[in-house]
Amino acid sequence: MPVDPVLASLMGGVDFDPDRLRERYNQERDKRLKPERNSQYVEVAADFSYFVDDPYVEPGFQRDPLFDEVEVVIVGGGFGGLMMGGRLRAAGFEHIRVIDKAGDFGGTWYWNRYPGVGCDIESYVYLPFLEETGFSPRHKYSFGSEIFEYSKVLALHFNLYADTCFQTQVTELRWDAEAARWVISTDRGDRMRAKYVVLSSGAFDRPKLPGLPGIQDFKGHTFHTCRWDYGYTGGGPHEPLIGLKDKRVGIIGTGATAIQCIPHLASAAKELLVFQRTPSSVDVRNNCETAADWVKSLEPGWQKRRMDNFVTLIHGGEVDTDLVADGWTDMFQNLSGFAARRRAEALGRAITTAERLELMELADFKKMESVRARVASIVKDPATAEALKPWYRQFCKRPCFHDDYLSTFNRPNVRLVDTAGLGVERLTADAVVVDGKPYAVDCLIFATGFEVGTPYVRRNGYEVLGRDGRKLSEHWAQGVRTLHGLQTHGFPNLFFTGFTQTGFTFLVPFSLNEQATNVAYIMSQARSRGTGVVEACAAGEQAWCDEMRSKAHVGDQFYGSCTPGYFNNEGNLQNPFGFYAGNYGGGPMKFMQILHDWRAQGGLEGVDIR
Ligand code: NDP
Repeated sequence: MPVDPVLASLMGGVDFDPDRLRERYNQERDKRLKPERNSQYVEVAADFSYFVDDPYVEPGFQRDPLFDEVEVVIVGGGFGGLMMGGRLRAAGFEHIRVIDKAGDFGGTWYWNRYPGVGCDIESYVYLPFLEETGFSPRHKYSFGSEIFEYSKVLALHFNLYADTCFQTQVTELRWDAEAARWVISTDRGDRMRAKYVVLSSGAFDRPKLPGLPGIQDFKGHTFHTCRWDYGYTGGGPHEPLIGLKDKRVGIIGTGATAIQCIPHLASAAKELLVFQRTPSSVDVRNNCETAADWVKSLEPGWQKRRMDNFVTLIHGGEVDTDLVADGWTDMFQNLSGFAARRRAEALGRAITTAERLELMELADFKKMESVRARVASIVKDPATAEALKPWYRQFCKRPCFHDDYLSTFNRPNVRLVDTAGLGVERLTADAVVVDGKPYAVDCLIFATGFEVGTPYVRRNGYEVLGRDGRKLSEHWAQGVRTLHGLQTHGFPNLFFTGFTQTGFTFLVPFSLNEQATNVAYIMSQARSRGTGVVEACAAGEQAWCDEMRSKAHVGDQFYGSCTPGYFNNEGNLQNPFGFYAGNYGGGPMKFMQILHDWRAQGGLEGVDIR
């Protein structure tokens, strides 16, 4: 059907056929949909558990078990745990212990040290508490090593090192009702106690592997990107991988991680084979150094204003000035209904909801046409360029930004092995097989992402036993149930931060900060009221679950039309553990407002205090 000429003019012209694009997108989705959904992946357990060994610590660490008591235990030393620690310190809590299986703070940025690792969200909004620490990021987009360093800066700033338990995996949390304390058991033989426990476990914590036939037969060297084996590759996150100069390297996966490490592998390996199932959308990144004294020139409160400005824009809101002004904000402004409305207003015309949705789709087509045109303008071999073009709507997959990824495929030692949407067929002792053809490799790197959409307790790897021995795995058997994403009924003095029915935004620390603020508020209230136990009451939990449900299907039509991936649970929108099931459909700004208003009321509505 031709585009309505008025809408076409609002778009500043339409030089593509929307019907043809819609049809192509559907075809690309359909050939990727697998009936196995999430179970196409294998868990990094049992025979695969070596994939999660920590390559960054000296082996042989030992310490005596702990049987003491602290006021607060935070499980997880990533940004969630750090921000929780910061907010608790500000509220006057002294005896805080962070437990993490890693050897230091950093979470994601501790584990992900692959070559080229960085954050493509602007550092001035991504790195929290910059005004408090006085830290000035070196680049507009920080490299991973700087974010890892900054995690340590935050831990020092909030005095969190003193009582940490690193290289320690929690094995069980058990509520002792008589003592009103949590008993925390670990793989170090600890049985420590805490009045409060906060689980800040992170969402992309547990790597996943493709369940390929023959995966156990492969005899070459292999590892996952989140446990990079520099012992084998040589070099470092920002140094040449000299160990690969005589190696034929294969990498499976072309998501946000692979986009960053592939250029580095290409410049080091004798030969690089990139096994692709679905190409990423890769736009301009345009990194630059932070101008000297730029941060000092800003007015106090600048970071919160910048964060608010960014989050408002990337969730379809309106602002006077786009402070971050990058690929993210440009993309959202173009794709949002706001942009469509603005175009209509410029022509002195109101638009209907249906027209707004159509304009948003047209803007999406236009954006993705430009992303595909960028591929064609950079990649010289036409067949390779064609295979690297993404055929789906922009937010079906996480958008990527990189200036060296596409040109990597012009190198003579790099080969794209496109699997036509079907994925790698199987592995043999020395090769990756695609469409019946073996590709021999010395080393195979899995850039295959992380478990999303599996039950919370499985991802954490330990059971939580609440009041009357109730298991969290059973309480959440049909999906996560919380009050505001932070507490659950039957589990006193236990808090969660992360993607547990909270307001998701691509600027993850923004949401974590709000969650940490609320948790610290509840604990402070309990302390000032002299109470021993705080717990979400059944009605409070149900009310939030109802609110979640009322907004749950906002994106169903969109995600149903998408190529499979973790955003849409590999095409299974009904999965109660899915990525969006854990995120408040009203958006992060509304979520923040709800928590803000709830605190302002001061009555701890929905929380039992005893
Ligand atoms: P992803 O889940 O995004 O990507 C996994 C990749 O593996 C996909 O390309 C997937 O293909 C591919 N794959 C899976 N199974 C097979 C198979 N059988 N055969 C071939 N290919 C297969 O993981 P990432 O580690 O790349 O990224 C995870 C998240 O981490 C990102 O989405 C982002 O949120 C975050 N991140 C953020 C960065 C930042 O700059 N802030 C940088 C890096 C990561 P398919 O798409 O077809 O499923």
